[in-house]
Amino acid sequence: MSVRAGIVVTGTEVLTGRVSDRNGPWLADRLLELGVELAHITLCGDRPEDIEAQLRFLAAEGVDLIVTSGGLGPTADDMTVATVARFCGRELVLDEALEERIADILRRLMARFDTPNFEAVRAANRKQALVPVGAEILDPVGTAPGVVVPGTPTVVVLPGPPRELQPMWRKAVDTAAVGQAIAGRTVYRQDTVRMFGLPESALAETLRDAEGTVGGFDRLEITTCLRRGELEIVTRYEPADQAVYGQLLEVLQSRHGRDVFSVDGSTVDDQVAALLAGRTVATAESCTGGLLAARLTDRPGSSAYTAGAVVAYADEAKAAVLGVEPALLSRHGAVSEPVAEAMADGALLRFGADTAVAITGIAGPGGGTDTKPVGTVCFCVTLAGQPAVVRTLRLPGNRNDVRERSTTVAMHLLRTALQAAAR
Ligand code: ATP
Ligand code: MG
Repeated sequence: MSVRAGIVVTGTEVLTGRVSDRNGPWLADRLLELGVELAHITLCGDRPEDIEAQLRFLAAEGVDLIVTSGGLGPTADDMTVATVARFCGRELVLDEALEERIADILRRLMARFDTPNFEAVRAANRKQALVPVGAEILDPVGTAPGVVVPGTPTVVVLPGPPRELQPMWRKAVDTAAVGQAIAGRTVYRQDTVRMFGLPESALAETLRDAEGTVGGFDRLEITTCLRRGELEIVTRYEPADQAVYGQLLEVLQSRHGRDVFSVDGSTVDDQVAALLAGRTVATAESCTGGLLAARLTDRPGSSAYTAGAVVAYADEAKAAVLGVEPALLSRHGAVSEPVAEAMADGALLRFGADTAVAITGIAGPGGGTDTKPVGTVCFCVTLAGQPAVVRTLRLPGNRNDVRERSTTVAMHLLRTALQAAAR
């Protein structure tokens, strides 16, 4: 038996595209993890009639669970709770204890500002303490409480700001009402394989072959997706089919072992971060404008191993900051392997690091030549005391693609160099 759900994303700013929806996709992932089948994500503005139309539609489709996002604030245009209450045929009642909790939060917030009229603010927020009779209350993460209204379907009402919605969803899942609504779900397992360097067509061929050789293949739900030059293969299956997935994994490993870099869900960023423990890394970039440095530092704890980063566009900057010989630049050009190597050496020295990565290339749209067209990018990874790893690639796509792909390539070169050094 399967349990189906729908998500209603509300908010005029999301409908108009001024804010792009982060709650629908996030909730979709969480439902998937739970084994709940997501039937629809609908999107509408703040108007109660429109929100109600979405609820009617999803209920008519027979979903067991509806999750709404947005419209829980104190202002008059935030009407989701009242709309859901009406839809579920439940009256709104003032929850005094909840009103007190909201008032406490507000008092603490207000203490930081010089607000003379606390009572006016509090009156506006009384509205947020109005809850449907019999609903379970989800305590505010910001100032807005959420609610879970039991029934068929059960409706979970969550606030719009993602940093409030996410923790509140976790509390919603623990409520009795949601537990009951999703009780009949099939619990799936989900595993991810990540590959780098394999074209999508080659993977498609392998999967076609596996269809014939792996018994029970059709019970695996396989989704493949190409992202930033990496292939991601996500497989969902029932726990009883663990061995079937094991066979698929064996096929992938035996055919493409060199390209498979992750079977445990870890990303290249996770792996590089783990491999950098105990080391210090420096970066020198031109065409990627610091994107590699941003990626390397985009996690807690990265300050322990990141020494410093240089973005050097002009030849003069490469010479002055990274000590790249002007003669080398004029002989080979800024986009060349010798210059990439000199940039990495410069970064190593400049920051007293033991690991350095350099990227120099042409991201376009202009600046290409016959011998070095747009998309030509040179990479160098240098670990102190070891020969440098140097590569030149021609990356496809527009400026953004080239920049993004370049950082991914650099991450993988760094990963393989660090793995080799650790052996
Ligand atoms: P608040 O008390 O902050 O008004 P709310 O529950 O009423 O909370 P909304 O008014 O719908 O939430 O949205 C508030 C803000 O949260 C939006 O302006 C937007 O920045 C962000 N937000 C809302 N919905 C989404 C969404 N689906 N994806 C990303 N951000 C969102
Ligand atoms: Mg609002």
